[in-house]
Amino acid sequence: MINSIQFQKGLSLADFMARYGTEAQCEAALIKARWPDGFVCPRCGHRRGYAFRHGKNAVWQCSACPHQTSLRSGTQMEHSLLSLRTWMLAIYLITQSKTNIAALALRRQLGISWKAAWLLKHKIMEAMRQREAQRPLSAEVRVDHGWLGGERPAGQRGRGAKSKVAFVAAVELREGRPLRVRFDPVEDFSPAALAQWAARALTGPCLVSMDAFIRSGLLALAPQGVGQMGLLSQDETGVESFRWLNILIGNLKTALSGTHHAFKFAKYANRYLAEVQYRFNRRASLPALVPGLAFAVMHTHPMTRRVITSVPEGGT
Ligand SMILES: [Zn+2]
Repeated sequence: MINSIQFQKGLSLADFMARYGTEAQCEAALIKARWPDGFVCPRCGHRRGYAFRHGKNAVWQCSACPHQTSLRSGTQMEHSLLSLRTWMLAIYLITQSKTNIAALALRRQLGISWKAAWLLKHKIMEAMRQREAQRPLSAEVRVDHGWLGGERPAGQRGRGAKSKVAFVAAVELREGRPLRVRFDPVEDFSPAALAQWAARALTGPCLVSMDAFIRSGLLALAPQGVGQMGLLSQDETGVESFRWLNILIGNLKTALSGTHHAFKFAKYANRYLAEVQYRFNRRASLPALVPGLAFAVMHTHPMTRRVITSVPEGGT
């Protein structure tokens, strides 16, 4: 199964160009992504409206209320001046590449400025982050912990250097194989931070097996903080069942260190981790990632202006 995923064909560049090569094709695809069942007014939810052109852009007028909307408003594309074609090409490059693609590579491939490439990459990663945040794990889960940007001695729960990012890695297993993963940055590994993590990352009755470090943190909260989780130790489930998690953490580090050297990304770690997570959780069908991510871009909230204006100089 893993081999068939590893060696599957992605969407070829020729196929991509045939489907999304022109601005008009991209507009049609993104309209479909935003309103798969026809127009819905973002203000009142009314399902009828009419479209007209205002200069280059299409505008939708709701039939029930005075609200007018454009294709981009209220989506990740809201403040973007880039063409729809550039957006789709970025989605293609990000989803079909084997590793996370850095803003620098996007800049070269798309022929846009550094700042535009950085923003585009972060808006797309933000769409991934918001989609992934809504997907908690359940049933049979393995949990481990790690640091990005350098290792720390075992057993420390406190906050590390600013450049280091503490994260919890979790995988949901189905018949012994990884179904979905989560990589969540956490403030630290204190019981309170772990309880917050469990509340957003797990759902329903779970049988959770964790490394001794995480387990001791969560047990400090028991019984009230643990909810519907059954806690098992690594010894009880066998170290073998943690093999996938170790492979995934190794892959995560490779994916991030290869493309985001300098590890300037502590501030944006949640988005970088979400990108790896998003791609892994949808690995079964590479070609479907393009329309899937276009859908995510159209159905997640735009980043705030504060984030948009905090573009770093150079770096990742
Ligand atoms: Zn309306």
